[in-house]
Amino acid sequence: NEVLRLHAITKTYGKDGPSPVTVLDGIDLSVDRGEVVALVAPSGAGKSTLLHIAGLLDTPDTGQVLLNGRDMTGLPDKARTEARRVDVGFVYQFHHLLPEFSAAENIVLPQLANGTAQRAAADRAADLLARVGLSHRADHRPAALSGGEQQRVAFCRALANAPALLLADEPTGNLDPATSDRVFDVLMGLVRETGLSALIATHNLDLAQRMDRVIRLGDA
Ligand code: ADP
Ligand code: ADP
Repeated sequence: NEVLRLHAITKTYGKDGPSPVTVLDGIDLSVDRGEVVALVAPSGAGKSTLLHIAGLLDTPDTGQVLLNGRDMTGLPDKARTEARRVDVGFVYQFHHLLPEFSAAENIVLPQLANGTAQRAAADRAADLLARVGLSHRADHRPAALSGGEQQRVAFCRALANAPALLLADEPTGNLDPATSDRVFDVLMGLVRETGLSALIATHNLDLAQRMDRVIRLGDA
């Protein structure tokens, strides 16, 4: 029962220019339902490209992307956008929270965009914030939060619409080591509690070892 399967994915940048760069060359990987997979790669190995392809933000040159068993290859943009909105949550190294809105509002907004009623969206935001230990920060704007707190809010936002798959690109890479450890624990707790499947890119081998399986890319 696979949430994600990438089959024979290739991607070359600058194909029509003088110096094309092949970043992904025949990548196969899968994430089972409820599984948390680490993606370990040296910088420049194509980690972000792979996550963007898996999350339907970018298209491969060849190969297939299956989400929940459904082949996304060649679907029109509208269908891909819809699938991304429903099925995928993203977390990046930087939180990318909206600065003018509170922590709670940052978690409510994607739910409203998805058609959830205001009351239900607010309840879910409060529940998610409680799970990451930030109930007391619900009304603070991102600038008033510490780096670790900002990332915890970003996790809540990624999970706001209950996606099938979480894609994370160095989710704690911008934090000092001690904070990174703690915030990673919070993320894993949240993922496990909700039975979410996840593909999490990291340089940190200690963090990678705490996931169910490690996939290496490039010379990692
Ligand atoms: P990683 O996340 O592993 O550091 P990326 O997927 O960001 O790797 O990039 C892999 C390689 O592809 C890098 O050499 C990068 O410079 C190159 N690259 C990424 N995006 C583009 C692009 N839009 N155009 C050209 N080259 C790119
Ligand atoms: P860290 O130790 O994680 O780097 P900080 O030193 O940035 O955290 O902040 C310590 C605590 O103070 C955090 O809980 C943070 O939310 C709170 N805090 C920092 N700046 C503000 C602010 N402008 N308004 C309210 N709370 C703040």
